[in-house]
Amino acid sequence: MNDLEKNLQSVCMRIKDAIKRSGREEKDVRLIAVTKTVESDVMNEAVRLGITDIGENRVQEVLRKYEDIPHNVNWHLIGHLQKNKVKYIVDKAEIIHSVDSLELAEEINKQALKIEKIQKILIQVNVSGEESKFGIKPEECLELCKNISKLSNVHIEGLMTMAPHFAPENEIRKIFSGLRQISLDIDKENMDNISMNELSMGMSNDFEIAIEEGATLIRVGTSIFGKRIYP
Ligand SMILES: *Cc1c(COP(=O)(O)O)cnc(C)c1O
Repeated sequence: MNDLEKNLQSVCMRIKDAIKRSGREEKDVRLIAVTKTVESDVMNEAVRLGITDIGENRVQEVLRKYEDIPHNVNWHLIGHLQKNKVKYIVDKAEIIHSVDSLELAEEINKQALKIEKIQKILIQVNVSGEESKFGIKPEECLELCKNISKLSNVHIEGLMTMAPHFAPENEIRKIFSGLRQISLDIDKENMDNISMNELSMGMSNDFEIAIEEGATLIRVGTSIFGKRIYP
């Protein structure tokens, strides 16, 4: 067994255990393999080993690798998205996880309308309050959702957040449960074009905590592909 195979097997075991511990069902948690800096041949090996969903944080990198990867694989855009790049990604992305402004949602709506697609999106919320992180403030989330719900060609599927890289477990847990609470509050409003079915949270450091706190989409890179080497 090569390293990729071993890593993937270990991650999948850890996911299963966390799901079992939290009394959830396996079908309710999807693994997104985060492939930034990972080349297409390795990505294809991961797909061969069962990966169905991949996550990238840069549009450029999606475009570079897109044609190399089988078309039944789902691409997730998980990083900050600039408005001028939207037109390159709406025909490719299963879910855009990083929507944090009405202007961005409007541009996605415009481009999705052109190709007659309903683009699934998540609202990125900065629950931790870390300054370096993208995402809207928790108290702004409901208002943003209300405004986006008027757009015909985007559909909000849920929320996304990132926990700080180095934080004690209880703090990380609080951030993830905080995101879940925000999604429950929004769900009560029963708005058009919005369902709060997805919580995208948890990375290599903290995906088990995220699963215990209700994550439906976990975004794991390093634990699968090893430490990233930036060119
Ligand atoms: C890189 C990245 C991940 C994966 O991080 P790992 O620590 O390598 O698992 C998850 N989410 C986002 C938004 C990322 O940019």
